[in-house]
Amino acid sequence: MMNVLITAGGSGIGFAMGQAFAKAGWQVWVTDIDEGALQDCPDDWERDVVDASDAAAMAKLFDRVGAHWGSLNAVCANAGIAGPTALVEDIELDDWRRCVSVNLESSFLTAKFAGPMLKDTKGSMVLTSSTAGIYGFPNRAPYASAKWGVIGLMKTLAMEWGPSGVRVNAICPGAVEGPRMTGVMEREAAAKGTTLETIRDGYAAGVSMRQLVQAEDIANMAAFLCSDGARLVSGQVMAVDGHTENPDPKA
Ligand code: NAD
Repeated sequence: MMNVLITAGGSGIGFAMGQAFAKAGWQVWVTDIDEGALQDCPDDWERDVVDASDAAAMAKLFDRVGAHWGSLNAVCANAGIAGPTALVEDIELDDWRRCVSVNLESSFLTAKFAGPMLKDTKGSMVLTSSTAGIYGFPNRAPYASAKWGVIGLMKTLAMEWGPSGVRVNAICPGAVEGPRMTGVMEREAAAKGTTLETIRDGYAAGVSMRQLVQAEDIANMAAFLCSDGARLVSGQVMAVDGHTENPDPKA
């Protein structure tokens, strides 16, 4: 049976990824910092409380995966936080560092420790970037910088690992419906002195498909990218955003 490890898989996009892989017959292992969220995951999923930006904890996690599964077919580096909403000159260095650490360093650590196992299985890696990794993002410089970094990491990994048969791709979700996006839009509404409704409508109006994305849309792409159907797809930036026309109102 094929198996996949997903960071930040206790809820949101990572949880939906777990469901999509499980539906396709994969064994699933999720990690998260939220123990309660992990408890609510299906009984047959492996789970661990791990901060994806903690190098020592990540090293131990992949030791456990190796000991328990003996091999790894796919990994989804999905951990990320929104970081501060402010102009660059008003952002504290500590807040910048935490945002870059959880979004980018976690992806590096996931690749570093999963790499040898993925080479053994000729497996595949998916990194969660964002449309903020394709466009600039006023008031969200740490997040946009980290998500552009994720694309650079993905492109480089695809070149380093391709000759070993390992594929690496990034998904760039647009604004995904859910509690996280509501929080982001509430902060943006406060920063712009307008209502949540106005901000939400602005996000939907900014994409050709005129709607926000569902977590399942991202999850389906992740499962496809790790399937044989995508056997020669590597080094790609897959936007799942309904086609962004106006990159200003986005996640
Ligand atoms: P979320 O805020 O719903 O969080 C999902 C899970 O991540 C939570 O269970 C949380 O406990 C966990 N988590 C947070 N920090 C962690 C850490 N350091 N280590 C391990 N787990 C951690 O997030 P989401 O909306 O599902 O986003 C998942 C990924 O998708 C992130 O990388 C995010 O940047 C990206 N993304 C999200 C959106 C969106 O609109 N939601 C859009 C573009 C990109």
